[in-house]
Amino acid sequence: MDKICTGCKEVKPLEQFHKHALGKFGRQPKCKECTSKRYLKHRTSILKNIQDNKEYFYAKNKEYTESKKDGLYHVYTIDDYAGYTTRPDTRKQEHKNKGRDGNTFKVIKSFYTLPEALEFEALLHSSGFTGRHINASSRS
Ligand SMILES: [Zn+2]
Repeated sequence: MDKICTGCKEVKPLEQFHKHALGKFGRQPKCKECTSKRYLKHRTSILKNIQDNKEYFYAKNKEYTESKKDGLYHVYTIDDYAGYTTRPDTRKQEHKNKGRDGNTFKVIKSFYTLPEALEFEALLHSSGFTGRHINASSRS
């Protein structure tokens, strides 16, 4: 049995079309050759886009990699401050830039979910550490 390709308009035998459950005769509307040409064109344009915007993709990728380093939320203390971060090294540097003693930076505990980390952070705050997430009304 033959079928006409909606891409190149050529009549070709059914085996020249990839299977597709809902298609006419159970096949794709475009022949294998047209499908692979379309795929290659698409792929080439993606690669070209990356090539043209290298710096953008590089920065995005770096940002993503750093933010997802190990997927954990680390609760830490530095001086009398307690907080949480997904990037301990970066956060430590930020605190040092603001004049805190980097040597006192310590990851106390790491969690898989943010609520757990926030709960532990709150515990540290209630035991005397200062920090960003303290609810003003809960301080005596
Ligand atoms: Zn075709």
